[in-house]
Parts: sequence; structure tokens; C-alpha cells
Amino acid sequence: MRRTLIAGNWKMNGSSAANAALLAEIKAGLKAGAGCDVLVCPPAPYLLQCADVLAGSAVAWGAQDVSAHVAGAYTGEMSAAMLADCACQYVIVGHSERRAYHLESDALVAQKALQALQAGLTPIVCVGETLQQRELGQTDNVVTAQLQAVLDMLDVAALDSIVVAYEPVWAIGTGKTATPQMAQDVHAVLRSLIAAKDADAAQRVQILYGGSMKPDNAKELLAMADIDGGLIGGAALKSADFLAIVAAA
Ligand code: PEP
Repeated sequence: MRRTLIAGNWKMNGSSAANAALLAEIKAGLKAGAGCDVLVCPPAPYLLQCADVLAGSAVAWGAQDVSAHVAGAYTGEMSAAMLADCACQYVIVGHSERRAYHLESDALVAQKALQALQAGLTPIVCVGETLQQRELGQTDNVVTAQLQAVLDMLDVAALDSIVVAYEPVWAIGTGKTATPQMAQDVHAVLRSLIAAKDADAAQRVQILYGGSMKPDNAKELLAMADIDGGLIGGAALKSADFLAIVAAA
């Protein structure tokens, strides 16, 4: 039985004061515990604030990106070891905004996932097609190429230490959501790709859906057989919405 993971991607939002309020509300809302794994991914300057506030709580924290390099002259980058030093458990890699605005290739994303694993972090590997790719019938090929690049770098044991997130680019921040069946179909493709490497491990890998998941659509998305949680953008910035999605899980 796979556990559900509800992960908030705060993107480039927040401030010390706003985060303090949001984290306090999330913690208070989960005082009695959560029926699923809960994660917040703030901008990197606030990781230690999360560590301070969330230590010992039901909420884990993670980063939104990591360097593909170990250390050295890479101005502006953060190594996986540094994130582990901030007690992160997870790091998002290959978010579509990084792929689009920073031209991150499948190979670079795979390197980042590897760096994360080597530092003991769980990479949340994001894949997803653009609207044009969906309309051209390329969805399965696109997400397969994106995930395969990562799978090719991993040994079978590492499959138990990754999370995959299917995030159709056209659904991110747009209010458009994939129907539960559309999402399920892609999740099934992703799981069978993992199964080609190891059938048992494929049954254990959490595959999240992301793209305008909200309190009013979370339950039906999370009810699908291969949807094991959500990667939440906008709705993760409002404690009531985030907690409602956690409650739906
Ligand atoms: C995201 O950025 O990962 C995301 C899913 O955003 P939103 O929920 O706002 O669509």
C-alpha cells in the first residue's frame, strides 16, 4: 500500500513573516496528525526557518531545485549536501518552470536527481507535456523520455528513494486540471515504465499529480489507482486550501 504525499511548492513566494503565519496555521491544522505524508517546499532562503518551525512536527520540508554538481565554482547554486544540511528530506527536480525558463534538459534533471540521492534526499522528479505536445498526441512519448533519462541513471535500489510527479504544463497555475482519467492514464504509463526496470519497486513508487489541484478537485484525482498524492502550487500558499487537500488525501 503506497502512502499518499501532499507536497506544497511555494515557488518564489513568501517572506519570513508570511511563512511564519502559514507554517503556524498548517502545524495547528495538523496537530492531531495527518493521514498522509505532508511536505512544504519554500524558497531556499527559508529552509532553515522551516527546519526551526517544523522540527518534530508532521510536516517535512524540501527544496525546489538542486545543483547537478557536488561543490565548487557554481555561483548561485545549492548543492544537495547543503540541502541535507538544512535537514531537507526532499528536493523537486525538473519542474516545468525550470525546464522552460532555465532550459534544463532531461540529462541535467537526471544529474540533479542523482546528486539528491547521493546526499540522502528524495528527488521529486517532475515530468509533463505542454499543451501543444498533448494536442499532437505526444504526451506519452514526452513523459517517457523525461522519466527514462532519470531511470537510466539509477540502480534498482534507488527506485525506493524517488518520487515522480506528473505535471501537465498546461494545467500548472492555469486553473485547468487534467481530468482524473487523463491524469490516471499518464500515471499508468509512468508506472509501467518504472515496472520495466523493476516490477515490485514500481508498485511502491509514489506518483503525484500536479496542476491546479485544489480542495474541490483533490478527492477525485486522489481516488485514481495510480495517483499517490499531489504537488500543489497556488493552493499551497493558503493554509485552509492546503489543509483541505491534506484532509481529502
Ligand atoms: C506546481 O507548480 O507544481 C503546480 C502544480 O502549480 P499549481 O498547483 O498552481 O498549478
